[in-house]
Amino acid sequence: MEVEVLIVGGGPAGSAAATLLARRSHRVALVHPTLPAAAALAESIPPSATKLFAELGVLDAVRAAGFHKNRGNTVWWAGQPVRREAFAEDGSGFHVDRGTLEEVLVRQASSVGALVFDGMTARTATESDAGWIVRCEGNDGAVTEISAPWMLDATGRHGFQARKEGRQPDRSTTTLALVGRWRREGGWPDEAGHTLVESYADGWAWSVPLSDDVRCYTAMVDQRRADLEGSDVGSMLERELGKTEHIGATRVGATPDGEAWACPASLYSTPRLGRPGLLLLGDAGSFIDPLSSFGVKKALSSGWLAGVVAHTALIDPGMSESAASFFDAREREVYRSYRAVSAPFFEAAAEAHGTTYWSERAASAHEASGPADPSGAGDPDHMGGHEVPADDVRRAFETIRQRDRLDAVPGATLRVFERPGIDGYRVVIQDHLASDQFPEGMRYVRNVDLRHIVQIAPQHADVPDGWTAYNGVAAPVTLPDYLTALSTAFAAGFLRHADR
Ligand SMILES: Cc1cc2nc3c(=O)[nH]c(=O)nc-3n(C[C@H](O)[C@H](O)[C@H](O)COP(=O)(O)OP(=O)(O)OC[C@H]3O[C@@H](n4cnc5c(N)ncnc54)[C@H](O)[C@@H]3O)c2cc1C
Repeated sequence: MEVEVLIVGGGPAGSAAATLLARRSHRVALVHPTLPAAAALAESIPPSATKLFAELGVLDAVRAAGFHKNRGNTVWWAGQPVRREAFAEDGSGFHVDRGTLEEVLVRQASSVGALVFDGMTARTATESDAGWIVRCEGNDGAVTEISAPWMLDATGRHGFQARKEGRQPDRSTTTLALVGRWRREGGWPDEAGHTLVESYADGWAWSVPLSDDVRCYTAMVDQRRADLEGSDVGSMLERELGKTEHIGATRVGATPDGEAWACPASLYSTPRLGRPGLLLLGDAGSFIDPLSSFGVKKALSSGWLAGVVAHTALIDPGMSESAASFFDAREREVYRSYRAVSAPFFEAAAEAHGTTYWSERAASAHEASGPADPSGAGDPDHMGGHEVPADDVRRAFETIRQRDRLDAVPGATLRVFERPGIDGYRVVIQDHLASDQFPEGMRYVRNVDLRHIVQIAPQHADVPDGWTAYNGVAAPVTLPDYLTALSTAFAAGFLRHADR
């Protein structure tokens, strides 16, 4: 069997890539084994992931699956007073059973034309100048060979190809997740659809509601120090939850629902996540701390970008190298930025609890945070671009509003340079604007092309005139979006007022 793209693994990353590529009429194979034990995990998905589900065209199917609504977080962290964060009424996320989510996403990929090899596991991969030949084995022992110029490794922690590409564990923070479900007939009191999170001296615990009656409880302990010998997982989990001040006690009146089990949750990353012919997606390439609740979102956006990169390379082979490098830079930056976000939480816990569990994690997160990628390729939410601080944009907007005439002229240090960016579903080399104030560079704000803005704004004294002129040369945008982009251009130093 020969396809254009072979995707190994049908989790959120693999199925997102398969859906995007199949929708663009590529011949794509998705190898999807029988669900592993980790499929029983309960996971909280934040509201911000909804945008990605919608972009992939799977939001209706995810909603139809009837997952419990994720309405917010209740957090007891580092001995601080409880923090309750409620999501907006119309902006809830999902609490999912990971296996069910995977099935929903794989079915969606199949419904738009991806060739799904159900019950199959990839066993060996051979690379040549022509691409890959992958030997897959079914549950019944039947063997199928699939060849493709592009292979996307989306096998999560298993790391089918990623381990051969130099994937590195973060040895200072080995983590074991102890997981169990509890059922409370008649429902939990005060059930608000919140994820509960609590740090304690030897780890942290969290609880995810899967329905009105069932909650999944997890304790994250140090694998090296966990007292594994002679202890069953259920007793270990009970002991850890007993160390918490709040979460353990929420199980009053509830009974265990099935056996407790354990799975590894240590961090790792790979030095190079993409090269022509191979992309390492989602958890296959790097694993961030589940504390963030962003693993699924990270995997979906990684799958989306991998789809864009493979699509680009297939329709324009000359772009393969640039597109794969763009993927690599962005994915490394995503990992770095999530590690940076987690560092202050670990530092606060280290200070409050004073244990090596936390001091080691704080030091490791701090070290992995490093400086941001100046190319701007890695911003996780904005698909390629750092942002001008919102306060600067607001100030620029106020100045524009108070003036009789715009009197715009190009900024003194405005310059244009080329780098890969995303245009629709393609990686393209595009002009970006930069200045001494904003050296990272950018091209679009709210789909408004800044290159046109810096040419048009100096020719028009009034903002509405400039807006009308802009809509005459580029895809029309709303006045508020034009104003935001114009204010951003001033805030970034791409434009200035002539008398300033
Ligand atoms: C304890 C724990 C709690 C977590 N909690 C959360 C949470 O609350 N919220 C959140 O967003 N994230 C959470 N995560 C992270 C989240 O599970 C992952 O980030 C996400 O599932 C990654 O998606 P993926 O598609 O990259 O990989 P996976 O979901 O791991 O999918 C990989 C797929 O590849 C398949 N596969 C493996 N080997 C092969 C092979 N040889 N051939 C073919 N297929 C193969 C697997 O069966 C699986 O279907 C948690 C993780 C852990 C460990």
